Amino acid sequence: MTSPSPNLSHGPDTVAIPGPSIVPPRVLTAMARPMPDIYEGDLIDTSLEVAATLPGLVGTSGAAFVAIANGHGGWEMALTNTLSRGDRVLVADCGLFATAWGDLARALGLDVELLRADDGRAVDPVQIGEYLAADTLRSIKAVLLVHVDTASSIRNDLPAIRAAIDATGHPALLMVDAIASIGCEPYRMDEWGIDVTISASQKGLMTPPGLAFVWAGDRAWEAHDQAGLRTPYWDWLPRHDPPANYLRYCGTPPVSHLFAVREALAMIAEEGIDQVWARHAALARAVQAAVDAWAAPGGLTLWAREPAERANSVTTIYTGAVDADLLDQIARAELGVTLGIGLRAFAGNSFRIGHMGFVSAASLLGVLGVVETALLRLDAPLGASGVAAAAAALA
Ligand SMILES: *Cc1c(COP(=O)(O)O)cnc(C)c1O
Repeated sequence: MTSPSPNLSHGPDTVAIPGPSIVPPRVLTAMARPMPDIYEGDLIDTSLEVAATLPGLVGTSGAAFVAIANGHGGWEMALTNTLSRGDRVLVADCGLFATAWGDLARALGLDVELLRADDGRAVDPVQIGEYLAADTLRSIKAVLLVHVDTASSIRNDLPAIRAAIDATGHPALLMVDAIASIGCEPYRMDEWGIDVTISASQKGLMTPPGLAFVWAGDRAWEAHDQAGLRTPYWDWLPRHDPPANYLRYCGTPPVSHLFAVREALAMIAEEGIDQVWARHAALARAVQAAVDAWAAPGGLTLWAREPAERANSVTTIYTGAVDADLLDQIARAELGVTLGIGLRAFAGNSFRIGHMGFVSAASLLGVLGVVETALLRLDAPLGASGVAAAAAALA
């Protein structure tokens, strides 16, 4: 009689979902403290330190805002401070997050037009250029884009898109959701001519969900004067360089989150932002090497078709004839790794590996090893060992 195979899921939990990402122990410790005085002392210093660090994080000399919100709140802050009811906006999507942002824009009363990228591809800068060139009345007020789409793991080429817009001479604002890229991917807001950038705390910034960040360049500020969608809570004006720290957050500051994000930003500064980006790029290449090695007829493939368009922070893996839900269940219940599930159109036939923020070679190789083990348990079509390919890529 053979003994039943042991359950191998006990031990440290490994969560490899693309956000909320792993919060480092240092960050958790930083937030575990009693509520301080919110009018003077360490909280004020922390608040000012975070405010001073944020522009450099995205490469802008413009203003940075911190709101108690998730990424959706950041989307709303960006739109309400720059636009008016009835304004036309062009949304270009290569996954599903830009479409969701567009849905929110439509609900705010904006006139939304959607440009969809081909499956597995980034938004085509030429198409954006053509769309804007056709708008001879210059009635499109903004172009909304997601830098890295977390559903498809495709990265848009922001400098190329900016160049395509500039070539038309069209004055539309360029607003970018960089929620899955800040702290993972090179991002140069001013150099790339981005007017508004949005991020949130729970992806590359290694902090629990609850903070939205919005950066505004000069042209966004000019639009703010005329923006009819401004509301008291989201309005940039009272939050900008306020006479009292309290106003920066339109009320009580996000105390614990500020201590947390200060620590996370310190960790990024200690590692060095170039090194942070290089680490993410190397780990992403290892995941891609693993999937390429696993690939076999009826088996796994990378969703993002062009190597240059593959994100450094998350990888979406199409599973072909392999049941992605079953794979996920085996990884979770039998082997101790929580994978990211495929979203909407990707549900059931894909899974995602988040490699954003607090991720090392050790943690990533563990995740890839578990995926390979689950594939073997499923008797899935397999080319070669993805773990060996990832190790070779990292070596
Ligand atoms: C996670 C994510 C969002 C949504 O953020 P919420 O905090 O869930 O509102 C939006 N865009 C991108 C690219 C994301 O990765």
